[in-house]
Amino acid sequence: MIRLENLRKNYGAFRALDGISLDIEEGQIFGLLGPNGAGKTTTVKVLSTLIRPDSGTAVVAGHSVTADPTAVRRSIGLSGQYAAVDEKLTGYENLVMVARLYGMSRRESAARARELLAEFGLSDVTGKRAGAYSGGMRRRLDLASALVVRPPVVILDEPTTGLDPRARLDTWEVITTLVRGGTTVLLTTQYLEEADQLADRIAVIDSGHVIAEGTSTDLKGKLGAERITLTLTHRDSLDRTLRILDRIIGDSAHPQTDSSGLRITASAPLGQRDLLQVLAALDEEGHSVTEAALCRPTLDDVFLDLTGQPTSARPARTPADTAEVGA
Ligand code: ATP
Repeated sequence: MIRLENLRKNYGAFRALDGISLDIEEGQIFGLLGPNGAGKTTTVKVLSTLIRPDSGTAVVAGHSVTADPTAVRRSIGLSGQYAAVDEKLTGYENLVMVARLYGMSRRESAARARELLAEFGLSDVTGKRAGAYSGGMRRRLDLASALVVRPPVVILDEPTTGLDPRARLDTWEVITTLVRGGTTVLLTTQYLEEADQLADRIAVIDSGHVIAEGTSTDLKGKLGAERITLTLTHRDSLDRTLRILDRIIGDSAHPQTDSSGLRITASAPLGQRDLLQVLAALDEEGHSVTEAALCRPTLDDVFLDLTGQPTSARPARTPADTAEVGA
């Protein structure tokens, strides 16, 4: 449904996309995961025909973005990084306006607007000005606008950035519902957890390159195991704890202790089972912990693993870039 081959895009002398190739099948949710400045929005802009690539090909629903941009635009719904809703209009009026712009009749537009408001859990605020909506509601209204004409492909650029956890979960639910209807979704995200929860396949991109691709399970396999973190109540328990980790997890534990001698992290290939066994052993031997946690790899762990550099070591986008994308 979406095919990118060796896509390149420069901004002046700066190479934002450096040969991206991706193949996205119909009905899939595909996650493009990467830190600030990786090239996610640039990829979205090429796919939605907002900018032309310098070289390479991009085909959406069988149409080339350069040879037939109009057909591409007819095949996609786009929700950008910032909700593009008219704040002076109500939710209902926003959707009717979009439907009318697409050429739907007054009656069809009204019916489609009502249907979408109900699907997106916005029926209660139908008559309220969008400017008075919460961030999560505005985001959902924006998603609904992208779906007015039931496009086969939906492109979502960081759909949950800036949302609180509750609104993020609601948005995930909406996205999952979309695919049940057969829509192909490309979503960009900076959150590993989001890609993990939603995407059938994930490509990790960095500095305009795809640096890893696969299912979430493939990537986790590549990235190693979950980690357990223990904070001991007493320093005296440290040696014993390290021996317990060695006995239960073995060589793959690679335990690390912080300077206080109280906090230990270790790999846990069996996840929850390792954690429970370690805690049981500590308990049996009379050692106590003030904190115990099982953590999944974060985006930083992914990048550290794949590139040897944390995401925080990368240059952040300048305010000028942000303004440009926002406009
Ligand atoms: P974010 O998560 O912050 O949105 P991103 O992965 O979407 O990041 P892009 O917006 O695609 O990244 O930007 C890729 C690189 O290209 C960044 O280094 C950015 O500063 C640069 N860039 C983007 N737009 C322009 C522009 N119009 N002119 C010059 N450089 C740009």
